[in-house]
Amino acid sequence: MSPASASLSWDVHVAPSEPLSASDLAPGEKARFWSPISATLISGERDAVLVDALLTVGQAQNLIEWIDAHGKNLTAVYITHGHGDHWFGLGTVLERFPKARALALPTVIEQMRVRETPEFFESFWMPRFDGKLPRERVFPEPVEGHTIDLEGHGLVVVELGHTDTDQTSCLHAPAVGLVVAGDGAYNDVHLYLAESDPQRRRDWIGALDTIESLHPHTVIAGHQRAGRHDGPEIIEETRQYIRDFDRIAETTNTAQDLYNQVLALHPGRINPDALWISAQAVTTSRASR
Ligand SMILES: [Zn+2]
Repeated sequence: MSPASASLSWDVHVAPSEPLSASDLAPGEKARFWSPISATLISGERDAVLVDALLTVGQAQNLIEWIDAHGKNLTAVYITHGHGDHWFGLGTVLERFPKARALALPTVIEQMRVRETPEFFESFWMPRFDGKLPRERVFPEPVEGHTIDLEGHGLVVVELGHTDTDQTSCLHAPAVGLVVAGDGAYNDVHLYLAESDPQRRRDWIGALDTIESLHPHTVIAGHQRAGRHDGPEIIEETRQYIRDFDRIAETTNTAQDLYNQVLALHPGRINPDALWISAQAVTTSRASR
């Protein structure tokens, strides 16, 4: 390891909400969108590490231009979790930066292979993003140990368990008090709780406690309103949303009631559709318990 460079900096790119072709609209909504997705570049003097690689080819191309503008040598791309909206753009990014190593936890790669099967790609992703997705999906390789070197600074992989899906992680840069949270934290966007049950909601709150225990000055959410402050206050905001959803889910019987009551407490967040999908999934799975 060479001596650590003076310091690290970071920058966040947010791909705006992408329109979806879908018929089942959330109550009161006129169109359907995918939540805005973030990618983060952590830079030293010469080198840089990208965290997450976005979803569509167009988003990945915009991301490449943005990375280019920073004038750094991209050495690694770290993928925080297995949901396709954070790594389907990886192949496009690696075409431009072929020397960068794509890395993820082995458990995350397992999630990618088991959950994002070719069948699921065709039945779920293709109809929603018709013609916008890469044909070939490129998988990351297992990260060795839990550290990625960036000019002598360690970027530490922290396992978070279940957040908005199973086997998630964040990347911690202790030298600058930065946590790139993946979907462990959301910033002014409705949470995706469709994969949750009471236990998994407790797990997600535990994951937020883990992030908080790192005492970050900056917390970058995988889904965020562009330009909103990336501060540690989003840890508690995310916890509060989960607590509200959890409490209301236990006392309502229909997706519509759950949706209405959570929305009344969190009216300003982007993409109520994510709440509608969560409310439907949770009430359906409870009905079959
Ligand atoms: Zn996501």
